[in-house]
Amino acid sequence: MALVVQKYGGSSVADADSIKRVARRIVETQRAGNQVTVVVSAMGDSTDELMDLAQQVSPDPPGRELDMLLTAGERISMALLAMAISDLGAEARSYTGSQAGLITDRYHGQARIIDVTPGRIQAALAEGAIPIVAGFQGVAQDTKDITTLGRGGSDTTAVALAAALDADVCEIYTDVDGVFSADPRLVPAARQVPYITYEEMLELAAHGAKVLHLRCVEYARRFDVPLRVRSSFTDKPGTLVVHEIEENIAMEQPIISGVSQDLSEAKITVTAVPDLPGEAALVFETLAGIGVNLDMIVQNVSADGSTDITFTLPNADLGAASAALLARQEEIAFGELLQDEGIAKVSLVGAGMRSHPGVSATFFRTLADAGVNVEMISTSEIRISVVTRAEDAAKAVQALHTSFGLNAEGEAVVYAGTGR
Ligand code: ADP
Ligand code: ASP
Ligand code: MG
Repeated sequence: MALVVQKYGGSSVADADSIKRVARRIVETQRAGNQVTVVVSAMGDSTDELMDLAQQVSPDPPGRELDMLLTAGERISMALLAMAISDLGAEARSYTGSQAGLITDRYHGQARIIDVTPGRIQAALAEGAIPIVAGFQGVAQDTKDITTLGRGGSDTTAVALAAALDADVCEIYTDVDGVFSADPRLVPAARQVPYITYEEMLELAAHGAKVLHLRCVEYARRFDVPLRVRSSFTDKPGTLVVHEIEENIAMEQPIISGVSQDLSEAKITVTAVPDLPGEAALVFETLAGIGVNLDMIVQNVSADGSTDITFTLPNADLGAASAALLARQEEIAFGELLQDEGIAKVSLVGAGMRSHPGVSATFFRTLADAGVNVEMISTSEIRISVVTRAEDAAKAVQALHTSFGLNAEGEAVVYAGTGR
């Protein structure tokens, strides 16, 4: 008997019929002789709707209350799914993240899991029931307040539970057939891959491919959880995330595994920073002090003893970061602070870059031919990323997908969801 953790995303449980369909799938898995634990997201776009509602009440709601509000979305879907399963003659029991033993730190909106104590889930499984766990939430170890793991975090709940339960596989059910060489909503000719390495998946997830939550991939790699992404609308096998692609399969692997875009970042430039030791430290200590995560950083060549420093950061942190820097403008002695929200980051990922020369040349030639201006560049061993104007991102992704020979013959199917 295998122990399977199945996670169903919002688009897979968007309405009553979808919930019944998913319930049938879960019961079939159990009747085939498996133990099943389910993690479920909020229905459709209901998390976004709750966010919008919060905004109407308060432009800057307290993190504790926002988390309490957002976790309600998953409570609705978990209870409805348990009802639908019970209607099919099987026993299901729904649990909030806190009841399921998801213990986190205290950072509202971006809490990290620090322990999983799934005693009630194990007890339910032992009694032949199907536990249904609310995704993307937990309870803070010290404050005992309800927390959320960040947008898309139900994937991470599923992997954390799979690790704690020592499950045989964690299946992430979504609205596309698996991991593709690009977002199929953006590139209809995107190609679905049967396997992808954790390393490449981490780069894609960190650079805008929201099909898997970044921390879910990190967690799965660390705890060796077999992770499969597949559609809840078909029986196709989907994509398995693996440590290494075996050699006989690797022969057919393309050099590049995917292209992604990320529209969630903004750019700040501080001009005329004195070109002296310790200046960059002052800038970045200021940002660290308010908990801002930076992505790309560029310092320009110094002219007249001063230099410009440009960096990207999450859009949501733009206001706080600018305020913190301006508050220390005299001390840091910079000239101006320029904000830019109209950027996108476009990334090309592939482990084959290590051993194949010429990838950068093709990358930049393609962008040039597509008329896309490059504002910043950053690379890792297996990734090239550039900052472009937001309105150029889709064009850049499509051109790169074509020039690296990733286009498939048919059109990718998107089964549901609004892509919001
Ligand atoms: P869920 O609600 O199931 O969690 P998400 O919307 O979070 O679904 O993630 C699935 C979506 O991720 C797809 O509908 C697709 O538009 C998007 N996506 C972005 N990049 C990729 C990619 N490389 N492969 C597959 N899907 C991708
Ligand atoms: N419902 C949450 C969100 O929309 C969590 C998730 O779907 O994974 O971000
Ligand atoms: Mg998701």
